[in-house]
Amino acid sequence: MSTWQDMERKYYMFVVRRQPVVIVRGQGAKVWDEDEKEYLDFTAGWAVNNLGHCHPAVVDAIRSQAATLMQTSNQFYTIPQLQLAQALVGNSCLDRVFFSNSGAEANEGAVKLARKYGKLHRNGAYEVITALNSFHGRTLAMVAATGQPHYQENWKPLASGFVNVDYNDLSAIKRATNDRTCAVMLEPVQGEGGVIIPEEGYLKAVREWCDQNNLLLIFDEVQTGLGRLGTLWGYQAFGVEPDVMTLAKGLGGGVPIGAFLAKEACAVLEPGDHGSTFGGNPLTTAAANAATRYLIENDIPSRAREMGAYLKKGLEALKAKHSFITEVRGMGLLIALQFSADISGKVVTACNTEGLLLNPVRPNAIRLMPPLTITRQELDEGLQRLERGMLQAVEQR
Ligand SMILES: *Cc1c(COP(=O)(O)O)cnc(C)c1O
Repeated sequence: MSTWQDMERKYYMFVVRRQPVVIVRGQGAKVWDEDEKEYLDFTAGWAVNNLGHCHPAVVDAIRSQAATLMQTSNQFYTIPQLQLAQALVGNSCLDRVFFSNSGAEANEGAVKLARKYGKLHRNGAYEVITALNSFHGRTLAMVAATGQPHYQENWKPLASGFVNVDYNDLSAIKRATNDRTCAVMLEPVQGEGGVIIPEEGYLKAVREWCDQNNLLLIFDEVQTGLGRLGTLWGYQAFGVEPDVMTLAKGLGGGVPIGAFLAKEACAVLEPGDHGSTFGGNPLTTAAANAATRYLIENDIPSRAREMGAYLKKGLEALKAKHSFITEVRGMGLLIALQFSADISGKVVTACNTEGLLLNPVRPNAIRLMPPLTITRQELDEGLQRLERGMLQAVEQR
C-alpha cells in the first residue's frame, strides 16, 4: 500500500485526495484491495458500473472486439457504432446521436448544437441557461456551465455564453431568458450537487417555457441515464421529453464513452461542425452496445427502482434509530443520506475500514450509488457496514 501511495505522491498530479485503498479487482457489486480485503462498492466507479464490475456481457464484447478491430477513424463506417446508435435512438425519444469520450465532452457537443440552432433559428442566440449547484464537467466551457463557484474560481475568465440560475425556480429561468438565449440545460436530478430532486412540476414548466420561446431543452443525463433513477432515462421519471440529451458514465459498462442525442428538428450539425478521433470507436461502442442492450433486455431499470426502494427503506430505518441522520433523499439507486453535522468525510473513512465504499458528496451528506444489479443481501450487508461506520465516526467527534 505505502509503495503505491509514495508513487502517487511522486508522479501523479495532486488533483484528488484519495482514500487509502488500492483497488485491484472487481466483480459485481464488490471490489478487492491488494490484501484481498473485500468492499461493497456503493460508488460503482462514480455511477458508472450500472451492471456491476466486469459484467460478463461487457467483458465478452470487449474481448472479442479488441481482437477484431479497436480503432479506425470516423471517415469509415464501423458496425458496433451503428448498433449502439440504433439501440439508443430506438429506445429513447431522441432521433440522432453523436459519440464522444466523456460526459463533459458530450455536454460540449450539446452546447455546440444549441448554438448552431440559435444561429439558424433564433437570430444568432447563443446563451445557455444552467442551474446553480449543477455539475456538467471540467472542461473550460463546462466549468462555466457548472453553477458551483468552487469549480469556477481558478479558471477565470470563464467561457462566456452561460448564465447560472437557481434550480427549482422557473421564474429565475424566465428572468434570465432574452434574445441571446438559445437553450436551457439541466440535470433531471442534480447528482454531484448532493442528489437534489426537482420539485413537482418544475421540469414540465421549464419544458413549456422552452416551447413558448423556441429554446432547446437539454437534459444532462450523464448520471441519471441508463437506469440509475429506476427508469431507462431520467426524463421518463418526470414525463418530460428533452430536445437534447447527454450521456456518459453508465453508458459504456465501464469503458470511457459519452454521447449526445437530439430530436430530428434540432439535429442541426453538418459535416465539418463536430468530430472526434476516438469518439464512437469500435472498442468502446461494442462495450456500450453490449451494456446498453443487456440493461434494456433484462429490464435493469425496474430492478434499480425495486432495489432503490429497498435501500431507502433500510436507510429510513437507520434514520429512525439515529438522530444524527436528518434526511434520506433520492430516486432509484441514486440516494443521499444527510447528517446533522459535517461528518461525511469521517463516515466514509470509517466505512472503508468496515468494507464499504461511499462518496462524501457534501460535507454533511454521503451519496449511495451502487451497481443496479446489486442484491438484497448485499444491500443488507452494506447497511450493516454503514451503521457500524457511522457510529464509529460519531463516537470520534
Ligand atoms: C459526471 C458528470 C459529468 C462529467 O462527466 P465526465 O465523464 O467526468 O466528463 C457531467 N454531467 C453530470 C451530470 C455528471 O454527473
